Amino acid sequence: MSTTTQTPDVAPRGGVPNPLGVHALVWVGDTSPASVSEAIGQTAEAGFDLLELSLHDSVNLDVPRARAELAEAGLKVVCSRGLAFDADVSSDDLAVVERGAALLHESLEVTDGLGGSHFTGALYSALGKYGHPLTAAGRHNVVTVLRDLAKEAQAKQMTLGLEICNRYETNVINTAHDALRLADDIGEDNVSIHLDTYHMNIEEDDLVRPVYDVGSRLGYVHIGENHRGYLGSGHLDLTGFFHALADIGYTGPITFESFSSAVVAPGLSNDLAIWRNLWDDGYDLASHARTYIATGLAAAWRR
Ligand code: MN
Repeated sequence: MSTTTQTPDVAPRGGVPNPLGVHALVWVGDTSPASVSEAIGQTAEAGFDLLELSLHDSVNLDVPRARAELAEAGLKVVCSRGLAFDADVSSDDLAVVERGAALLHESLEVTDGLGGSHFTGALYSALGKYGHPLTAAGRHNVVTVLRDLAKEAQAKQMTLGLEICNRYETNVINTAHDALRLADDIGEDNVSIHLDTYHMNIEEDDLVRPVYDVGSRLGYVHIGENHRGYLGSGHLDLTGFFHALADIGYTGPITFESFSSAVVAPGLSNDLAIWRNLWDDGYDLASHARTYIATGLAAAWRR
């Protein structure tokens, strides 16, 4: 935790068992050493416990340096990524599958090298609009590759997350029901489910039922508004979502995710269709989000 003066809008931690995190794209668009330092400093300053780093463009990431800086700041780290259409484990083309599997194994190593124990995201497909449904052969390839990855992760005491994404970003898993079936087929205990309120808003009946359906298999959470801007400025029933998380006794990480054209990541911003400016000041956005999540969760746990 930062020892610098905290702004008055940083809420106390009381009553919230969950580590609270923030996605690095609130701060910076790449993983160069200078950008990672900035993201770590701002994350600690804003009172978060955890930084999520996307590994979409991690060629410049200095892993030992980032690990040391994270430890010094007292922050946990989680890594995330999606794949690409030419490196996609849900493809029917085994050469494409092989390139996707290589990216996953490499990213698992990076996560481990950073001191992280959880690797999550759209590990099962490209992030983008598919022009066809998932094929049986493609689904078989996802299961085979992720089973191998889960075994590799298990040997490192690491867990994987299956982030459920909307239909415009994947054709593999769009609902909690899809994700639970996929995790069952992979069949490894260290594969957990990752819910994201932004995607749930598009695909699920509401923000409550999927939480109850996933229950103890929930391993990671993204909180984002329906437009991915300031929490509370959209129409999502985040109060209902917080109640559901408390009802199932979820004590795992909860990470705020928001994107604006003010911070652009090469590749990822285009994959996520970040065309609009929803905010300019990442610190104000993140401080507000941390207070919003902490107070909403604390109230939910107080029942
Ligand atoms: Mn997400």
